Amino acid sequence: MIIHLDMDAFFASVEVRNNPELAGLPVVVGGPSKTRGVVAAANYEARKFGIFSAMPMSQASRLCSDLRILPVNMPLYASVSSQIHEIFNRYTPEIEPLSLDEAFLDVNGSIKLFGSAEDIARRIKQDIKDELRLIVSAGVAPNKFVAKIASDIDKPDGFVVVENDAMQDFLDPLPIKRIWGVGKKTEEQLHNYGIFTIQDIREQSERWLIDRFGKHGDHIYRLANGQDKREVISDVRAKSISSENTFVEDITNKDTLVAYLSHLTEQVAARLREKGRKGKTVNIKIRYHDFTTIVRSKTLSAHTNQTQKIWQAVNSLFQTAIPSGQVAVRLLGVGVSGFGANQSEQVDLFADDDKHNELDEVSDKINQRFGKLKIHRGRKI
Ligand SMILES: [Mg+2]
Repeated sequence: MIIHLDMDAFFASVEVRNNPELAGLPVVVGGPSKTRGVVAAANYEARKFGIFSAMPMSQASRLCSDLRILPVNMPLYASVSSQIHEIFNRYTPEIEPLSLDEAFLDVNGSIKLFGSAEDIARRIKQDIKDELRLIVSAGVAPNKFVAKIASDIDKPDGFVVVENDAMQDFLDPLPIKRIWGVGKKTEEQLHNYGIFTIQDIREQSERWLIDRFGKHGDHIYRLANGQDKREVISDVRAKSISSENTFVEDITNKDTLVAYLSHLTEQVAARLREKGRKGKTVNIKIRYHDFTTIVRSKTLSAHTNQTQKIWQAVNSLFQTAIPSGQVAVRLLGVGVSGFGANQSEQVDLFADDDKHNELDEVSDKINQRFGKLKIHRGRKI
């Protein structure tokens, strides 16, 4: 069984926890001000006013005059995220993080030790509540697709278990937009054929869908029938370790993009060191506002997990890849792959190499002790 875990109103919940005077009040994270920027996260009190993520802040403050607006504090959320990850890790090493507040867990290997998938999900929910004073919604199901819907359907504080024999009854009444890959356009096309629910899709033949939607139709048909063979890809088995961030609002400022990249690099390098891995290939992913996505990679002269070396590659890839002039970026990612069987590194002749290794070691120690990313470096561009 697969468990999908998704923190409720994550950024806003962390802020309210840390500022108890905000409890019960409508709170959003975002900004920078009442008139500019967008809502990055809204707590449930704010949602009652019709406020949601990605809404312009000016509109949100019009909807609720008493709205409390807090700035985005990424290092804080990243540090809480790694505490959550540590709780997951008690129950299984098979963890695939999707973002700071969301992950898939494959618990098939943990059932002998901890009880059923349902028991494990319940324990994780309780641990997060007791130790971090935060609420996570959980979905338990035979595959990723259904587990993700299950965690979402009863939010906040959701806990939904879908057994194999109940899967089709669970899926059938849901609207087609619940299917991964059914966006606005496909939804509209399907509506035109009189198809509104997952059951409606299932009543068509696979051929019918393929004829109209090609490969995509096949994908839709399989998911509608509860078939999803994708495995949970944990860091342990992954061929690459990567981290990416989708922005609530497209970012055009290059300095801001560089700051995000630097933060992603620190996360990836710290995870490599945590797993005792070194990679030789560094890649970056940039998705523009129109969804065109480019991936650029660079092979280093030796395997490394040193933040500074990975950062040099990331930054030079970015500077070459990004067009001059105005760009609107919606997603950035950093990854390291090409893990060597022989992880011993060649002697490096750069004089400051040891200094950087020491710096990584010190910051890893501090981060392990006090929660991740308490320490991160300021960076010259
Ligand atoms: Mg969430």
